[in-house]
Amino acid sequence: MDKKISLIGSFATDWIRYSDYELKKDSSGEVYITPTEEAVFSMYNPFDVSEELLLDLMKIGDKALSVHKASDEAEEMELKKAILVFAKKYGLLGLISASAYNRNIVGDESILMVENNHVKREKIMDSAKYIDMFIPFVEEGDIVISKYKEDVYLGKREDSPQFYGKRPVVMDLIFSRFYSEKIEWIIDFAKMIVQHFKQLLMFKDSSRYLTENVTIMAGRFHAEKIGFTINQLDKTTIAWQFDSLKTTIETIYAFVVTDENLLLSPCKHCESIFITQNLRSKYCTPACRNRANVKKSRSKKAKSLKE
Ligand SMILES: [Zn+2]
Repeated sequence: MDKKISLIGSFATDWIRYSDYELKKDSSGEVYITPTEEAVFSMYNPFDVSEELLLDLMKIGDKALSVHKASDEAEEMELKKAILVFAKKYGLLGLISASAYNRNIVGDESILMVENNHVKREKIMDSAKYIDMFIPFVEEGDIVISKYKEDVYLGKREDSPQFYGKRPVVMDLIFSRFYSEKIEWIIDFAKMIVQHFKQLLMFKDSSRYLTENVTIMAGRFHAEKIGFTINQLDKTTIAWQFDSLKTTIETIYAFVVTDENLLLSPCKHCESIFITQNLRSKYCTPACRNRANVKKSRSKKAKSLKE
């Protein structure tokens, strides 16, 4: 896929994905998604696949919104499958970081939660309890947090990225095989992005009646923890540092919907959301345009037969 989203080229961050994930229930029956025991990790730059990443997440959100209406078991299975595929392609969202104001969860005593996070209603949480929510399947000794004076160290019984203080220690945890997320959290986030988009479309349609700026679903995005460094190679560049895949996706979404040279739109035929540089396009693919035309001419024929 070519990169249609401008500016994204100057963003970079690395994220981790494992080669395989599975769904697992914790002791209270909550369904989590977690890397399988044999899975191997790889690093990638989410901005290299920004378009696909955003659309894949919105597909999950769209599906989730329709499942809740029908509570159809087959559809729910399909949704779970889509989340497994998503995780294999892009990894987990990093909600442990994105849901808290704390820059580094590991080593802090309490956690200040951001509003509208997808994880917990509480405002303040005990750090150990909070971390336990994201590692429900660890066994004794898998993850060891030790403190020495001001320094915090996270030991892992496995071989996965360790940043030795170059990035917040919580990244060592997110990038480990023991890190898990509830599928409800992921679904909730995906739904939020799609609902935001639907509201935006509504306001866009009625924009000629608007006299003032309208904030669409205020208080949803919390990008307080995007940092940056300035790097020098042949060119001087900004290297943005994202705290989570969630914030990365939100940033991509914000760029796409505000880019005047891009159109993010639901297809008039199949309703799936697509991105294009053709601002007048109504259909996601030529195939959908053809099907829509066939349908149109058929209904015309049917009409003229009735007359
Ligand atoms: Zn279509």
